[in-house]
Amino acid sequence: MIGLVSTNYFSPRIIHGAGSINNLDEAIEVIQATSLFVLLSARTKKVLEKQFEQLASKGVSLHFYTDFQSEPTTDQLDRALGNFKQSEAQGILAIGGGTALDLAKALSVIAVNKTLTLGDIAQQGHLGKIPLIAVPTTAGTGSEVTKVTVITDTKLKRKLNPGHLALIPDIVLLDPELTLSMSPKITAETGLDALAHAIEAYVSTLASPISDVFALEAIRSIGKSIHTAYHEPQNLQARDDMLRGSMFAGLAFSNSSTNLAHATARPLGTRFSLPHGLSVALMHPYVISFGQGAAPDRYAAITEALGVESVLEFIEELNVLFELKKEVKKQLNLEELKASIPLLAEDALAGNGIATNRKLPTRKDITDIYQNLVTDLMGE
Ligand SMILES: [Zn+2]
Repeated sequence: MIGLVSTNYFSPRIIHGAGSINNLDEAIEVIQATSLFVLLSARTKKVLEKQFEQLASKGVSLHFYTDFQSEPTTDQLDRALGNFKQSEAQGILAIGGGTALDLAKALSVIAVNKTLTLGDIAQQGHLGKIPLIAVPTTAGTGSEVTKVTVITDTKLKRKLNPGHLALIPDIVLLDPELTLSMSPKITAETGLDALAHAIEAYVSTLASPISDVFALEAIRSIGKSIHTAYHEPQNLQARDDMLRGSMFAGLAFSNSSTNLAHATARPLGTRFSLPHGLSVALMHPYVISFGQGAAPDRYAAITEALGVESVLEFIEELNVLFELKKEVKKQLNLEELKASIPLLAEDALAGNGIATNRKLPTRKDITDIYQNLVTDLMGE
């Protein structure tokens, strides 16, 4: 690793701790905004009523926006942009899961670069933006600290995932209490996605001694608490471990990369409308089987950080415990899945995360990986 040069980006300010949602005014003071466009679900708006009343009493005007559904699209972004312009707000506050955060990140950059399209963001130099405060309510995407936003292009029917420094939220507020209401199902799928971020970042060819620190800490933290968070939703310590783990995993992959698990999961999620976390968790064991022989030292360090005998077994057992295959069979038709393997492989090869995989996959390798998934699903 000596001689590898890496440039690493971090969120300038991270406020962390149980109850830290009550420190929103501190975050708002930093960006010096007196009016905020608040992107969140109707449910979260109700849960945080008291906090919003307090902000209003301090003279902050809030424009709430709740008109979006899970897995953000370019259509949803256009709608949010129209509403943001009308609001004339000075800053954006996003509170929610990956959807709210990714939508807000894209909005914060597109709102001041009107001729820019999502597909062009990655190629730009310096970009101005509307200041953004990100508050995650799930422990999964790590989107609050990453330079990537994942948005489905409604016309192209493809997931775009442009990366740019300007997409990193300016202030992050991490409050584990906001994640207590996550259902066991969401906890499982988002938790496994976060674990995949950390593992993929650690075995990526772009891994550096700096991204490694975050990846290993994420693996430790999530490995220690994913069972507890699933079985005891109200366990604040486990929730905090998962939330910090997810953030560390975000810092790891944002400065390294995700790889084949994400590359194969993206087309699966788009074509069959599966949630991101579920499709990544489903693909991850097959990708580990394929690639672990190419990076034995790296996988040994992951195994040690998890405190287990085998990383593959650990993840396979979690997939069984969380009944992911059962879930996916409810959501898609297996014959249709089997028939789409060539298209899925095509899409996977065209996306990100192939070239940085420690073992470079061929079209046949990727086809085999999907085929293995189908065989297992049919055998269940
Ligand atoms: Zn992911």
